[in-house]
Amino acid sequence: MSLKIYNTLNRRIEELIPGGVKKDNIEDYPVVTIYTCGPTVYGYAHIGNFRTFVFSDFIRRYLKFRGFKVNHAMNITDVDDKTIKGAAANHVTLEEYTQKYTDIFFEDLRTLNIEPVEHNPKATESIKDIIDILEKIDEAGMLYEKDGSLYFNISKFSEYGKLSLLDKREIKSGISFDADEYEKEDVRDFALWKAQKEGEPFWETPYGQGRPGWHIECSAMIRKIFGTTIDIHIGGVDLIFPHHENEIAQSEAAYKEKFVRCWIHSEHLLVDGAKMSKSLGNFYTLRDLLAKGFSPRSIRYLLMSAHYKKQLNFTFEGIKQADQALERIDNFIVRLIDRKGDGENLEVKSFTDKLIHEFIETVDNDLNISGGLGVFFDFIHKINLMITDDKISKKDAENILAALKILDQVFGFIFFENEVEDPDKDRIDKLVDERIRAKKNKDFSRADEIRELLKNEGIILEDTKDGTRWKRKK
Ligand code: AMP
Ligand code: ZN
Repeated sequence: MSLKIYNTLNRRIEELIPGGVKKDNIEDYPVVTIYTCGPTVYGYAHIGNFRTFVFSDFIRRYLKFRGFKVNHAMNITDVDDKTIKGAAANHVTLEEYTQKYTDIFFEDLRTLNIEPVEHNPKATESIKDIIDILEKIDEAGMLYEKDGSLYFNISKFSEYGKLSLLDKREIKSGISFDADEYEKEDVRDFALWKAQKEGEPFWETPYGQGRPGWHIECSAMIRKIFGTTIDIHIGGVDLIFPHHENEIAQSEAAYKEKFVRCWIHSEHLLVDGAKMSKSLGNFYTLRDLLAKGFSPRSIRYLLMSAHYKKQLNFTFEGIKQADQALERIDNFIVRLIDRKGDGENLEVKSFTDKLIHEFIETVDNDLNISGGLGVFFDFIHKINLMITDDKISKKDAENILAALKILDQVFGFIFFENEVEDPDKDRIDKLVDERIRAKKNKDFSRADEIRELLKNEGIILEDTKDGTRWKRKK
């Protein structure tokens, strides 16, 4: 089995070959170098942004699960038109303003159980690296200066447009443009370095005072951190043009070697058919959803469970379904932990081996996580039937839990929490017992009162044929 991923650059699904040289075993490959375009820290990231970051986390986790070693960077854009404007409007320095949203962003990543990556370079801390690459592009004769700003001359880079498949006729160079974000209809020479404007932060460079354009930071950081061609570059589909097209132009013009082997772009999170975005105002932040009572792992599950090449329409109904899927998993875990009885069923061992094998086979095919979850839920269904038939011993249950822990290295949303004692266990057990007695004595109002009391504390009761179980809602 080998991992195959759709490469936007070549428009086809290709085997991932870290370092570019095919090996017989995954362990023989060099460390996989990965770069994810990170957030612009001018406000709370919305859950559309987090779809991309959860996806990036899934790729990282899946590669590790498959036995690859990873070296992963994600930048923080802390100087651009939007951050400068935000800082000025709030009468604080650029640093104060961006640090606040950077901290919030990392807190949100932790809430969503997104693993930290090895490098988080900031644009403002990479100015020297940016000047280095500007000098290289200059030596290659592909930039020009106008009114103190520097622009990339796209007509000099013959492969301009290869990622976003721009028609050669569309490429009209000579018209330069300062904005960082623009549409395909506006193919232009883009700003590498922007001359200082009144009241704006600036840095001294051999090219005068100014600040970097948005696109140059990623090219500069990738060179600084990895030194050469990287294996994987990740971002949302909206970044294909112009951002990633421009990253390729800058890096390949400067260093004359392939910039990225595999470009992976994830589809958008939509609201009523439109991209969730700050400019449309149709967005929810993670904190908006938590305040509505949704749990972080339901949001993680929702964002992660759709195939990355499919647009995902955000609805509250969708989060509720994610909640239900997680509840099925939680109940399964509880049933496994409750198992008693001796012996070991060899059939169960073959089912868990098959689970892992089929999961890999499915997800290896262009990161098909939705298919992988299908394999997982089929397994739960099968084992649940066996539990009902009393065919799962304590040892079998332990073997299954061990397999689930392996899968959760990728998922990051399973709770094995019932293995840990709740600090309030005694008091809750007593109330649960009292409720059972009340029901026996036909004191239904006291029974309901206890259920309500526990519910207000976030504890859910489940009446099963084996008695009443309780669990804390996450
Ligand atoms: P930004 O902070 O705007 O630079 O965006 C950070 C990341 O979020 C980029 O990779 C974008 O492609 C991605 N992104 C923005 N909006 C959405 C959306 N609605 N759905 C998925 N990803 C998005
Ligand atoms: Zn980037």
